[in-house]
Amino acid sequence: MKISEILEKKQPTLSFEVFPPKTSDLYESVEKATNEIAALKPDFMSVTYGAGGGTSRYTTAIASNVLKRQVPPLAHLTCVNATAENIKERVMDLKEHHIENILALRGDLPQGVEDTSDWEFRHADALVHEIRKYGDFCIGGACYPEKHPEAANIAEDISNMKKKVDAGCSFLTTQMFFDNSIFYNYMYRLREAGINVPIVAGIMPVTNAKQMERILKLSQAFIPRRFVALLDKFSDNPAAMKQAGIAYATDQIIDLLANGINAIHIYTMNKPDVAAKLQDNLSEIIPSCKK
Ligand code: FAD
Repeated sequence: MKISEILEKKQPTLSFEVFPPKTSDLYESVEKATNEIAALKPDFMSVTYGAGGGTSRYTTAIASNVLKRQVPPLAHLTCVNATAENIKERVMDLKEHHIENILALRGDLPQGVEDTSDWEFRHADALVHEIRKYGDFCIGGACYPEKHPEAANIAEDISNMKKKVDAGCSFLTTQMFFDNSIFYNYMYRLREAGINVPIVAGIMPVTNAKQMERILKLSQAFIPRRFVALLDKFSDNPAAMKQAGIAYATDQIIDLLANGINAIHIYTMNKPDVAAKLQDNLSEIIPSCKK
């Protein structure tokens, strides 16, 4: 089923993200985690894509495994360093596996690369155009409540976002954020810019302090004082940190739902227990979470 239809028909929605293994020896454990997360029957599951090596090969395999478990998959696809031929091959592979939802991304710039003028696909909007040549896919894109790190300012980033939507993105999923007021302000600015597609709010339950260091490096997200206090207090106690991180994410989700945001995506990091705990915490709030 197309994610655009799910977002239109069913509100609220709760979806989960998994990432494929980097090497074949890890495939089985990732597949097991994926199966356990799929058994929770989220509204859809996204499967990330690594620009090179194992993860790019395994995205289709994991996504088709999700589909076999009757959960609609969303396969990520990046275009860093890709040729039109590469894109065609990957998109046709997804099509053959009956995967109809693609999150079209540029991908992160390889280290040291600044000049991309000779790339065939410099931005996600070009990838969206290319994917559309090969079938009637439901295509999504990424968006950044705190702006993309390469954008000079939020206005420039939103104006680029509009190009992606005009190219054919029928929904956008946000980068993780830890302060909902930043997200509400961003929503207002997107709508003001004429971007009216559904926005799926991406929430990361932080379950250990190391993970937080990586997140900050990648996303440059603002960390509210309330969250810093929680890290200070619990980061040396893994079980307490996990419980506190899930509680913080639950609180963020409840606030989003209370304010009319109906599509929530969880960066589950291949952790079925975290996904299950969140569903449990929301069981009276999101009807499909009640088991
Ligand atoms: P773009 O939309 O191309 O934007 C990148 C920058 O270029 C922005 O600053 C934007 O303002 C600017 N820009 C956009 N379009 C234009 C244009 N037409 N002209 C000029 N400037 C423009 N990475 C992975 O490798 N694999 C994944 O699976 C993955 N999944 C992700 C999922 C989500 C929900 C998010 C938020 C990010 C994900 N990423 C993933 C990371 C993502 O690839 C990086 O953030 C990357 O740096 C930007 O990708 P993008 O698709 O947003 O790029």
